Amino acid sequence: MIRTGEQYRDGLRDGREVWVDGEHVRDVTQHPAMQPIIDIRARMYDMQHDKTHAETLTYRENNGIHSIFNRLPREQQDWHDKWKAVDTVMGDIEGVVTRVGDETVGEMWSLYDGQDVLNEIDPQFSKNIANHVQGVIETDVFHVSANTDPKGDRSKPPQEQDPDMMVHVVKETDKGIIVRGAKYETAAGYADQAFLKPTVGAWTNEKLSDYAVGGIIKMGAPGVKLIARSGFAGRASKEDYPLANKFDEVDFLMVLDDVLIPWEDVFFYRHTRAAAYIRGTLHRYSAFPYTLRLLYVADMMIGAALWNAKQTGLDKLQAVREKLADLVCYREGINAHLTASIALAQKSPGGLLMPHQSILYAGRIHACANLPQMMHIARELCGGQICVTPSAAAFSNGDSKDWLTKFYSLNDAWQAEDRRKLLAFARDLLNSDYANHRLTFVQFAQAPHFNHLAAVYNAFDFSGPLDFVRRSANLSERVNGSL
Ligand SMILES: Cc1cc2nc3c(=O)[nH]c(=O)nc-3n(C[C@H](O)[C@H](O)[C@H](O)COP(=O)(O)OP(=O)(O)OC[C@H]3O[C@@H](n4cnc5c(N)ncnc54)[C@H](O)[C@@H]3O)c2cc1C
Repeated sequence: MIRTGEQYRDGLRDGREVWVDGEHVRDVTQHPAMQPIIDIRARMYDMQHDKTHAETLTYRENNGIHSIFNRLPREQQDWHDKWKAVDTVMGDIEGVVTRVGDETVGEMWSLYDGQDVLNEIDPQFSKNIANHVQGVIETDVFHVSANTDPKGDRSKPPQEQDPDMMVHVVKETDKGIIVRGAKYETAAGYADQAFLKPTVGAWTNEKLSDYAVGGIIKMGAPGVKLIARSGFAGRASKEDYPLANKFDEVDFLMVLDDVLIPWEDVFFYRHTRAAAYIRGTLHRYSAFPYTLRLLYVADMMIGAALWNAKQTGLDKLQAVREKLADLVCYREGINAHLTASIALAQKSPGGLLMPHQSILYAGRIHACANLPQMMHIARELCGGQICVTPSAAAFSNGDSKDWLTKFYSLNDAWQAEDRRKLLAFARDLLNSDYANHRLTFVQFAQAPHFNHLAAVYNAFDFSGPLDFVRRSANLSERVNGSL
């Protein structure tokens, strides 16, 4: 089954408890901070039914039509299909959104790969993950990610402070486990469900812990409270902040006030080895769509900077071309890592096809760690006018109108209104509250930088360099090459 946008919106009217700026929101689909991004997610659902896009966004399996984003990757073509589907969506919505489901569903495929590990530890739960992976395919739900607890004072174990600083199990019942705590989660207030698992956790020697818990949280379940940060949409005019008003992906603190996870939704419980397993493999698939989003951000930066240089005639200068070339190297670096990760894709332990792991994780570092510098180059290429230009209202009203028309019209092709629009776009891409929020999102939302580096370290096969140097330096065969 593939859902329509209206079915998705209806699903959000499930009695969920959502707060924004202290206001209890009765219907998230109507709230100004969330309506634009909900409309985009709804449009993605509707595109699956639209004749123009259906072939790209859906596939047939078991007599049903399903979303290409939820398809388990088994061959290289599956990754090319997913890439094309993202391309189609971004082209249609004319912008970039990340946490819309395809970038989080892969976290469950990582655990699906670990069914043998789960079976060894506690066989009662391993079939649950397979059922949920299939369930997402069949029900087309919007699935997000719940990893990060408030954590509190990291110098103390959770038991020595308010125990709710990390999500933990407080009780078992016939129906399931009762969990308590909180998680930070982008899109939780307008998604259907989340895959809950421990944060980047430091387990000591304990084998069993109430904090080692993974499963599915339904956003409308009793006891789930979703507290949004302030939205960027609706704060200022769409003309002045075109991206913030359309693409803001609102983040939430999801409070779990004694929430029941039914047994069929529990993936692991108490065994720290299961929790450590999922932490070690979590982004094996989902790093691909996460990194892919930055290709579109790079294109936006190149486009904004080059249009600006063309408007002002600066594109003829060699020094300007060199800065544009730096942006292109960044863009093509992302492109190359993603392309190579498909070309050299690897079989997973569960029989799926993973993008080549060390190339993908190195690509994620290239894309995320270099973004601040690339934003600065693009900002510099756009010049100071992106932060001093008056509002759209000043361009169209009163005495200011004629002066602004005079000083912002460059030649016959570039009149004031197009100059204003480009500068407003570039400001919202590079300078605004929204722009800086997105930069932080990129640095943290999937995991912080140290965790990105750990993923590269763990995925890379060091035996090649070790062997090369062993032979090149004529080291003895006795030297042990294991890490
Ligand atoms: C915009 C945004 C969206 C987010 N969306 C989601 C989401 O959808 N789902 C979700 O689960 N989480 C989400 N997060 C949370 C994100 O995963 C966390 O911010 C991240 O895990 C870091 O945790 P923290 O914020 O508590 O920072 P801290 O852990 O307090 O980190 C502070 C600094 O210390 C460093 N540091 C901390 N521990 C170590 C260590 N062991 N080794 C080296 N350096 C360390 C960090 O790298 C960082 O520089 C989001 C965050 C942001 C900003």
